[in-house]
Amino acid sequence: DTVINQIAAGEVIERPASVVKELVENALDAGSTRIEVATAGGGLSLLRVTDNGGGIAPDELPLAVSRHCTSKLTDDIHDIRSLGFRGEALPSIGSVARLSLRSRPEGADSAAEIAVEGGRVSPVRPVAANRGTTVEVRDLFFATPARLKFMKSERAETAAITEVVKRMALAFPEVRFTLTGSDRNTLELPAVPADGEGLLRRIAQVMGKDFSENTLPIEAEREGVALSGHVSIPSFSRGNAMLQYFYVNGRPVRDKLLTGAIRGAYMDVLPRDRHAVVALFISLDPALVDVNVHPAKADVRFRDPGLVRGLIVGAIRHALEISGM
Ligand code: ADP
Ligand code: MG
Repeated sequence: DTVINQIAAGEVIERPASVVKELVENALDAGSTRIEVATAGGGLSLLRVTDNGGGIAPDELPLAVSRHCTSKLTDDIHDIRSLGFRGEALPSIGSVARLSLRSRPEGADSAAEIAVEGGRVSPVRPVAANRGTTVEVRDLFFATPARLKFMKSERAETAAITEVVKRMALAFPEVRFTLTGSDRNTLELPAVPADGEGLLRRIAQVMGKDFSENTLPIEAEREGVALSGHVSIPSFSRGNAMLQYFYVNGRPVRDKLLTGAIRGAYMDVLPRDRHAVVALFISLDPALVDVNVHPAKADVRFRDPGLVRGLIVGAIRHALEISGM
């Protein structure tokens, strides 16, 4: 089983940032309102995610670290409400690192912990802990040295972790996120209301106040596809497209169709080597979109790409026009 899990880990866990993504998704799925991420050594020596969510009962800890055990399966794969649903992340991480999972479920008066080291699962033991779950990952890839060789510098891994936390944080303004640790990649994102004003505050926290003060609000709908968010005014542009954040039904995505639509929308107001800064949220019937469920990817296939592209281009051009740009 350890070998199967290590093969799965090769798919799911590319680098420390992928671990952070999986653990933060789990914390969000558990209904947490506070999520703390701590890292050391670019996430390779330590990654710790602490949440205040629903937790895991002691007798369910062994299940949580077993392959294909998920508490989240729904009948229809399109109808995924939770972020993770494959039951692969924890066993994969446990097969290539030293993993410990400590949890105290809501209403329980005691906590318990399970550890997995290079695939070897230890018995559950009682511990002291606050409500919620702490997942600690040490020595990532110690059990697969070949994979360890592929890691970039600690700085690059740290930057990728920061990016993952920012991406998730934009989609969940009501959740407080912190990022701390010896990697000095500190983020402190207090919870804000889930309304438009709150979103703009979260955008300022994540993407900078200078961006939040130079945006046009976007709000449009066509044939059941809703678009909202903020885009930069033409005088506020970047030399690369890194600061373009897209979400489909609350999931962070990266896709050529979407970046292409932005390029098209700004075609007449930005030179080719300048890029708009955007935070855009698309909501549509989940049956009309296929968000790649491959954990390491984030591309997306719309049933009607032309509709989505037209909606984005039209909404941004309209916003530019009415603001006189
Ligand atoms: P998946 O998220 O696909 O179900 P994971 O391997 O990521 O699979 O997690 C396995 C299970 O462990 C989850 O289904 C959930 O029941 C439990 N779990 C993991 N992390 C948390 C957490 N932070 N809070 C509560 N339960 C958790
Ligand atoms: Mg998961």
